[in-house]
Amino acid sequence: MSQPLVEVKKLKKYFPIKKGIFGRTVNFVRAVDGLDFEILEGETLGLVGESGCGKSTTGRTILQLLEPTEGQVIFEGKNIVEMSKRELQQIRKDIQIVFQDPYASIDPRLTVRDVIAEPLEIHKMYTGKEKNKRINELLNDVGLSSYHANRYAHEFSGGQRQRIGIARALALNPRLIVADEPVSALDVSIQSQVITLLQDLQEKYNLTYLFIAHDLSVVKHISDRLGVMYLGKIVEIGDKGTIYNEPLHPYTKSLLSAVPVPDPTVKRERIVLKGDIPSPSNPPAGCTFHPRCSECMEICKTEVPSLKEVNGRLVACHLYN
Ligand code: SF4
Repeated sequence: MSQPLVEVKKLKKYFPIKKGIFGRTVNFVRAVDGLDFEILEGETLGLVGESGCGKSTTGRTILQLLEPTEGQVIFEGKNIVEMSKRELQQIRKDIQIVFQDPYASIDPRLTVRDVIAEPLEIHKMYTGKEKNKRINELLNDVGLSSYHANRYAHEFSGGQRQRIGIARALALNPRLIVADEPVSALDVSIQSQVITLLQDLQEKYNLTYLFIAHDLSVVKHISDRLGVMYLGKIVEIGDKGTIYNEPLHPYTKSLLSAVPVPDPTVKRERIVLKGDIPSPSNPPAGCTFHPRCSECMEICKTEVPSLKEVNGRLVACHLYN
């Protein structure tokens, strides 16, 4: 069995809400509120939930693009939260990100060659001919060619720009890639091509992915395991097949009910949630999902459910006490 490459322990990221001329902190947005999970070497962990549930903040906090408020991120046995800037710079080679919006994540003034060369230059990897060879290799890996290297990002389609973003993320031979909604901005026909590319690259380079998405049908194809987030917490996590075949948490059930079933003989009843996701600056007491849950009990309004093992996965819900 694979070893954990990343262990996230009690991770929190709170953003202060400031008011008045002295900028006094009056409250916090609890974007990530105590996460515990592992990502195994070579696997894809899908992280899903509605927008505003904290999944992108989780990815950025793991990468240390955002400083955690509390908790640990253990990468290959070392807590990267406590690392010096220099140590962090070294570890950044191993952990890369693919952003949601390929349009916004590529500087329009740079050629594709410059975009891919940037991380190589920052980390002083490859120079001269070797650098050009590496750039051409990366372009081939993502289904482009050396012919594209001297062109600018605006000359490419959305799918091609995402391929450039993936080439840049691959440049330093990373171990972990945080893919933050990497196909959400793309047409459906292009989405599957980019997902297939990510799968091929994972096999070729033994990559580990944290794949963040709001759409469960996208995550279904690429994930080995699935984590479902609601208001900064994981409410269910486990093997993809286990969760897709028998979701236990009422929130997971509602998300899955919206995923189209390819078999026309199978009818799935759509569960429509009441209301919007509450504000993470003022989360409901007890189970934060209780105001929207059709199975809410009295205990749910006061007691926070903890993650417990039920039928081969972890779930945080009083229905399974
Ligand atoms: Fe619903 Fe209660 Fe379970 Fe929360 S703990 S999901 S409110 S049944």
